[in-house]
Amino acid sequence: MIALVTGGAGFVGSHLTERLLAEGHTVYGLDDLSTGSISNIEPFKGLSRYHYQVGTVFNEPLVAELVDRADVVFHLAAAVGVMLIVEQPVRTIETNISGTEIVLAAAAKKQKKVFIFSTSEVYGKATKIPFNEDDDCVLGASTRSRWAYAASKLVDEFLALSYWREKKLPTVVVRLFNTVGPRQTGRYGMVIPRFVSQALAGGPITVYGDGTQSRCFGDVTDVVGALVRLAAEPKAVGEVFNIGNDQEITIQALAERVRDKVDPKVKIEHVPYARAYVEGFEDMPRRVPDLSKIHRLIGYRPTHDINSILDRIIAAQRTATTA
Ligand code: UDP
Repeated sequence: MIALVTGGAGFVGSHLTERLLAEGHTVYGLDDLSTGSISNIEPFKGLSRYHYQVGTVFNEPLVAELVDRADVVFHLAAAVGVMLIVEQPVRTIETNISGTEIVLAAAAKKQKKVFIFSTSEVYGKATKIPFNEDDDCVLGASTRSRWAYAASKLVDEFLALSYWREKKLPTVVVRLFNTVGPRQTGRYGMVIPRFVSQALAGGPITVYGDGTQSRCFGDVTDVVGALVRLAAEPKAVGEVFNIGNDQEITIQALAERVRDKVDPKVKIEHVPYARAYVEGFEDMPRRVPDLSKIHRLIGYRPTHDINSILDRIIAAQRTATTA
């Protein structure tokens, strides 16, 4: 297939590109390099099946031209990470909603399949664990900036599903749960790259709140493998899928695991949420995906557990710092 990957120089976008190229597909990458990085796509630049364009998804003629060349669009260009969302809410909302509108409108003109990337954030403060795709989304007040991210991604989901229902545009919505792996930067707040770089620098590792909040970390190679299989599955169209790992770990246990693997002498420091983010910041206590739907359709099961995930990230960061 010929794929357009918007946000192709980002963390997930570059891993998806790598997988598509390895499987013999052709890839067009579009990225404005706001949070993506040219170094992420450096290894593919010489390949004849890889083409990239530095530009934004707000450039409608460019998006139309690239959509024209593709069979399938993976729309990953978006504002990334809770920290960025809290610091730049206007940009987050505009990028996530207007960018998706432009991509879907261009795809609809040519009836090209589109993957819309959503997030486990949309489950918000829901307490029924694990989160199923048909469960309610429980968001906080609009006065709390964190929820702008989930709300904007929910609008994207409604838009994608409406394009399918109303215009028969083949769309697929995927909700990624804390996807991690080499090349992810800690610059936008993501916990694992931050903990690993803090530990490698001699500490301290900063746990926000009391560390009892938990997450499930999915390896990016598992995630991109699922995406390529979903793209070939006609029954995925018009559906929403959780993708990730359902093995749960508290942030305190994660910090201890990173410390023990890197340097047992490193200190773990607790930082109040108000200092880490903003006053009144709301965090989710637990977040676990129900993976039965994607398992039923394509047989998906995560293959990397938290230990192998951490080992790979620690090795990659060690290489990067010594390079
Ligand atoms: N976190 C932390 N220390 C950090 C960065 C994040 O304790 O240096 C916590 C954060 O408060 C959250 C969890 O780790 O409870 C996951 O944060 P991340 O931003 O990676 O993803 P989120 O699940 O919030 O989207």
